[in-house]
Amino acid sequence: MTVAPGEPGALTPEESLLRDMARDFAERELAPGAAERDEAERFDRALFDRMGELGFTAAPFPESIGGAGFSYRAWTLAMEEVARADMAMAIALSVHVLSQYPVHTWGSDEQRARWLPAMLAGEALGAFALTEPHAGSDAAAIRTRATRVGPAAAPDGYRLDGTKSWISNAPEADRYLVFATLDPGLGRDGITAFLVEKGMPGFRPGRHERKMGIRACPASELIFEGCEVAVANRLGGEGEGYRIALSALGEGRISIAAACTGLAQAALEVGARYLTERVAFGVPLAEQQGLRFVLAEMAQQVAAARALTRAAAAAKDRGEPIAEASSLAKWTASDAAMRVTTDAVQLLGAAGYSRENPVERYMRDAKGAQIYEGTNQIHRLIVAEHVLARVSGS
Ligand SMILES: Cc1cc2nc3c(=O)[nH]c(=O)nc-3n(C[C@H](O)[C@H](O)[C@H](O)COP(=O)(O)OP(=O)(O)OC[C@H]3O[C@@H](n4cnc5c(N)ncnc54)[C@H](O)[C@@H]3O)c2cc1C
Repeated sequence: MTVAPGEPGALTPEESLLRDMARDFAERELAPGAAERDEAERFDRALFDRMGELGFTAAPFPESIGGAGFSYRAWTLAMEEVARADMAMAIALSVHVLSQYPVHTWGSDEQRARWLPAMLAGEALGAFALTEPHAGSDAAAIRTRATRVGPAAAPDGYRLDGTKSWISNAPEADRYLVFATLDPGLGRDGITAFLVEKGMPGFRPGRHERKMGIRACPASELIFEGCEVAVANRLGGEGEGYRIALSALGEGRISIAAACTGLAQAALEVGARYLTERVAFGVPLAEQQGLRFVLAEMAQQVAAARALTRAAAAAKDRGEPIAEASSLAKWTASDAAMRVTTDAVQLLGAAGYSRENPVERYMRDAKGAQIYEGTNQIHRLIVAEHVLARVSGS
C-alpha cells in the first residue's frame, strides 16, 4: 500500500488495522445512504450504534479505562475515512468523543466509572454544550447560571438555568457536558463544568438548528430551567470549566482537521474521476492543462491538511502541548476542505451544482468546519499568540 500524500511515513500495523476497518465500514455502510440522510436531515442512530460495536467510539482511549487503546494518530486515520463517506456522521462521532475526553482527563475515578463505559461502547451518545445565543467565540461570556444549592462553602448541588445553542448531537444525546457560570462577573474564572443526563428534570432540547450542511448530524438548543445537579456531577473544581473546555477543544480540533481532510479527499476523487470521463471539444477534460492545474492544487491542499493533522496528532501522542498545532491543523484543513470542495463543484460544471451528485453536499458540509470548534479567525489569534510568545521568550 503506497503512503498517501501528506502522510509522514509508513503506517504502523495498528494504524493500518484501524484505517482499513474504518474504510471498509464507511464505504459499505455509511456512503450509500449519506445523500438521503442529508436530504431528510435524519440522524441514523443505528449507524452510530454500529460505530460503537466496531469500537470507533472507544478508539483513542486507553485500555485501562475500557478504551480500545489506539494512538491519536490512528484515530485521525479512522476519522478521515468516516468523513470521506459521510461528514455529518464524522462530526457526530467527533463531538461524542470530545464530550468524553474531559471526563477521562478531569473526572474522579467514580465519575469515570459511572460515565464512560456506556459512552465508550457507543450506547450513550454524548454532546458538548458551551455555546450560547450571545456567546460563541467569546466563550468566557456565557450566561447559563449555576447557582449553589445549600451552603456556599459546601453546596449540596447546583441549579442550572439558561439556554445553550448550536449543540451538536443535542436532540438525540444521552449524556451532556455542560458549561455554566457561577457568576457572569467572574468571566472565565466562574465557568464550571457539569455532567447532565437525558431525563433529568428541568432540562430539555430546544429549537432544532436548521443547518446549511452536515444536516444528518442533529443540532439544537438546550434549555435549562431549574435543572438540579448533584455535586458528584460537577467535573473538576468550581471555576475550572474554562480550562476543561479549552483542553478538550485542543483534542477535538485535531479530530475535526482529520474529518476535513477526508471530506477534501472525497471531493478530489470525484473531481479527478470526472475529468477522465467527461469529453468536451473532442477530448477528455483531463487533457486540458488548466484543469490539471486545478486538480494538482486540490491534491496539494489535501496533502497539506493531512500533514498538519498527523503532526498535531503525533504531538498529542508524545504528550506535548497541542494548542498551536491543533489550531494550525484545524484552520488549514477546514480551509482546504472549503477550497477543494468548491473547486470540485466547478470541475463538474452543472453536474457539480446538482443534488444528484455529492460534491454540492461536500461543499455545504465544508463551510461549517470553518466556524465550529473555534472559527478560523480565532485560530489565527491562537497561532499569533504562540508566535509572539516565542519571540518574547515567555
Ligand atoms: C454546525 C455547527 C455545529 C456546532 N456545534 C457546537 C457544539 O457541539 N457545541 C458548542 O458548544 N458549540 C457548537 N457550535 C457553535 C460554534 O462553536 C460557534 O458558532 C463558534 O464558536 C462561533 O461563535 P458564533 O457563531 O457565536 O460567532 P461569533 O463569535 O459571534 O463570531 C462572528 C464572526 O466574528 C468573528 N470574530 C469573533 N471574534 C473575533 C475576534 N476577536 N477577532 C476576529 N474575528 C472575530 C468570528 O470568527 C466570526 O466570523 C456549532 C456551530 C456550528 C455552525
